[in-house]
Amino acid sequence: MEAKVRVRFAPSPTGPLHMGGVRTALFNYLFAKKLGGDFLLRIEDTDQTRYVPGAEDYIIEALQWCGLMPDEGAGVGGEYGPYRQSERKAMYRQYADQLIESGNAYYAFDTPEELDEIRKAAEENKTVFSYDLHTRNQLKNSLTLSAEEVQQKIANGESWVIRFKMPENTDVAEKDLIRGEVKFNTNQLDDKVLFKADGMPTYHLANVVDDHLMKISHVIRGEEWLPSMPLHVLLYEALGWAENRPQFAHLPLILKPTGKGKLSKRDGDKLGFPVFPLLWTDPKSGEISRGYREDGYFPEAFVNLLALLGWNAGTEQEFFSMEELIESFSLDRVVKSGARFDPEKAKWFNRHYLQEKSDEELTELFKPILAKKAITLEDTKVTRIIGLIKERCEFVSELWEQGSYFFQAPESYDEKTVKKKWKEDSPAMLSEIVTLFKGTEEWNASAIKEEFSAFMSDKGWGFGVVMVPIRLALVGSSQGIDLFDMCELIGKDETIARIEKAIATIK
Ligand code: GLU
Repeated sequence: MEAKVRVRFAPSPTGPLHMGGVRTALFNYLFAKKLGGDFLLRIEDTDQTRYVPGAEDYIIEALQWCGLMPDEGAGVGGEYGPYRQSERKAMYRQYADQLIESGNAYYAFDTPEELDEIRKAAEENKTVFSYDLHTRNQLKNSLTLSAEEVQQKIANGESWVIRFKMPENTDVAEKDLIRGEVKFNTNQLDDKVLFKADGMPTYHLANVVDDHLMKISHVIRGEEWLPSMPLHVLLYEALGWAENRPQFAHLPLILKPTGKGKLSKRDGDKLGFPVFPLLWTDPKSGEISRGYREDGYFPEAFVNLLALLGWNAGTEQEFFSMEELIESFSLDRVVKSGARFDPEKAKWFNRHYLQEKSDEELTELFKPILAKKAITLEDTKVTRIIGLIKERCEFVSELWEQGSYFFQAPESYDEKTVKKKWKEDSPAMLSEIVTLFKGTEEWNASAIKEEFSAFMSDKGWGFGVVMVPIRLALVGSSQGIDLFDMCELIGKDETIARIEKAIATIK
């Protein structure tokens, strides 16, 4: 029987989750759900020096916002917990010891200062120092020291680490589910630290041990971890877990909108878009980073745009609900090369999901914005207004930009439009329109239009000559929806008042 599909998202709580991290979570989630498997959240917090308070809560909240609920994990619980590596601390030592006993790892006593000096000396000779099979025999470790010396140093409380002993000149060929076979030769790889004297494992050991103990079937993670794959494969072998170890899939990088390289926070700051799902306030510096949620993106739009960063369904389809994504997702259709992020496309997705919402739903979302401005209006009216303007909007906040004139009279008039369209006889003409409107009994768009048209043809006036000045009076510019709909929704008295004010004010 095939083992159950179990995947994990394993972020380190070192700051806000980058959108690339959310995409990793999403692809894991889709893969699991498609195959009836489990999606786990494991917090990899072994590096206490990089721990940032609030980051774990941020990760959980971001996943929640996106609808990526773990079946097991930190904050959820489950059979294989705890799911926070700092709480699993006691489990790792035995595996480090096992590796030493089997000759796959060794103690190293070189102090950070000593290693720094060696590193500097190498730099001066234009080489790069690496703790590996070429150098380990000249360094201070249990391979070069006698057993007594090693015991002595440990007993003396000298600082130590446990390093993996990379085998000599061995080819490691591993199938990556996205990239195909990836080959490494161990002569190119260094002896990574697995465990430290403070009792904490490093990422590599903790990651492999936990994936094994949590029965992870597939490791789906970012491309930056591809160079760690051979070490992880060798660790599974050395620990005797080769047989049912997970399969690997390394996701392509998310690239900057233009130019080379990985999408960074700096690109977002420069071009004006978020790279994090939620707003983040740095606990140390107080620096604020914008988030998709606070910028007014719908989670459906965010998930949809992430899904298409490096994956496609092989069809023309671009809009996908979560259910549709689960249905269509497969790792075969994840690309190897980087996926370019396009902030304009992100807005385009949001626009789509905004148009999909009913006018009533949008009314609920818009009401807090109106409330903040101390504007009260019946819901039914707001709903009608939204129906008329939403097509111009990508974000709920733009409903205000597009429709503020429904709720408040203009405070100024666009100079350019005044110059071009407000003629000497405009005030006199508008006065006649005021008289006409005062006598208009039935105040709805079609009745207003009918009376207005009859009046205009009576007068022999061209529409253009009057329409823009009325718009100026009602909106303050030449913008806005159909003029008669506008008059109806603004209301008879207010329409008349605004035209009278314009006659008195515009020079
Ligand atoms: N803790 C690693 C990270 O922060 C996880 C890498 C992996 O999935 O193996 O990305």
